[in-house]
Amino acid sequence: MSDTHDYSKGFGARAAVSLGRPGLHDLVSEAVDRQSAARLQALESLDDPEALRDLAAEIRDDALARLDERLASLAANWEAAGGTVFFAADADEARSYVADLATRTGAKTAVKSKSMVTEEIGLNAVLEQMGVEAIETDLGEFINQVAGDHPSHIVAPAIHHSKADVARLFSRLSDEPRDEDAQALTGFARAYLREKFLSAELGITGANFGISEAGALCIVSNEGNARMCMSLPPVHVAVMGMERVIGTWDELAVMLALLCRSATGQKITQYVSLLNGARRSDEPDGPEESHLVIVDNGRSNLLGTRYSSALRCIRCGACLNVCPVFRQTGGHAYDPVYSGPIGAVINPLMKGTDEAGELAHASTLCGACTAVCPVRIPLHDLLVYLRQEYARESAPATERAGYQVWARAWSNGRRFAWFSRVGNRFGRIMGDRVGTRLPLPLLSRWTRPGRRLPSFPDKAYRDERKGAGG
Ligand code: SF4
Repeated sequence: MSDTHDYSKGFGARAAVSLGRPGLHDLVSEAVDRQSAARLQALESLDDPEALRDLAAEIRDDALARLDERLASLAANWEAAGGTVFFAADADEARSYVADLATRTGAKTAVKSKSMVTEEIGLNAVLEQMGVEAIETDLGEFINQVAGDHPSHIVAPAIHHSKADVARLFSRLSDEPRDEDAQALTGFARAYLREKFLSAELGITGANFGISEAGALCIVSNEGNARMCMSLPPVHVAVMGMERVIGTWDELAVMLALLCRSATGQKITQYVSLLNGARRSDEPDGPEESHLVIVDNGRSNLLGTRYSSALRCIRCGACLNVCPVFRQTGGHAYDPVYSGPIGAVINPLMKGTDEAGELAHASTLCGACTAVCPVRIPLHDLLVYLRQEYARESAPATERAGYQVWARAWSNGRRFAWFSRVGNRFGRIMGDRVGTRLPLPLLSRWTRPGRRLPSFPDKAYRDERKGAGG
């Protein structure tokens, strides 16, 4: 099942493609339910998870308030440990830096661990154009790469693939039939990727956190592939969003306690890798060159605005797992990179509301995302602000006029009472005439199959309450 969504079309069209895919809803909803249950169980092992979430939000806000200072300190300490730092203003600068590095070091093969920011900047396509084979080594990303897909979830990028899909993809890759056996399929991927790890000249990773006081990066994984990407090839480059910096090791302990539990329901992931610059002369392994690319790409536009809390995000994916829209459509209906509630917030903010503003409407505003966010991002409030901006910019004059009339009509008690009586009567007449469907094209979208127009009571609620003395 490869991603054939047309990203030049709107969310509605992409969602329709997803909803029409047999089995997709079951795959996605089973996976997100499993992850949500694991998260809840893992949080129970903390003494006071709510207090820890408050602390995590404070830590992230503090880092954002002192972002220049934190980044300067991270860069200085990383360079003092023999690494190199590059600040990329946009995706183009970040891609060019890595491409130049590949050219200078004569890289033919690059091994990559899962990194949403490298997806965001479209790194693989550039490397491939240059003739560098960029291999994804996270199992989910590897499956997506073989399928020609984008990630459909921040943490579990291949949740839209069944075991049968993976068996078919790996059979094609190896020219041999493969059974639908998870262990055997994983074994095949491990053997295939081992050769790549050993021959790659360049290792590329993301970074979950940069720790400024130590000039170090922290990368969490469950497969050990990130550790191999950063230690086996002679040259390593980490690409990190500029907001992912924190101050101290103590702060890292707080963030890890919440990230692992919120993302995968684990107290800690199988691997927590910490690195600090290039290999020292007395160390047995590690890269000869270690580069850190710190990417802005629109993030600094959010600083000091009412959206700045979106930069607290630690990409745990918990908001995706509880979102009623995501569980219906999966991630591809949103955007090729960032999906779910956080994607609906940051895509419009980073790309502009004219290009991605409608994603703010891909939400029921139920608040489930806000309720689970470990760093307390008020996601549903941010979605409302974005809707306001999107409406201001793109609502047609007729719609604006309609809402103005509506606002004036309902701002007066007597007029509101009259409208609710007329609305109630209209609803009863329409219900009598057309059953559960409304007629006009605009109205009929709200009552098409799968959505039922409720039957209207004999009296408007207001009149009912008056009659009851309420
Ligand atoms: S917005 Fe919150 S819940 Fe969603 S991915 Fe980011 S940190 Fe996790």
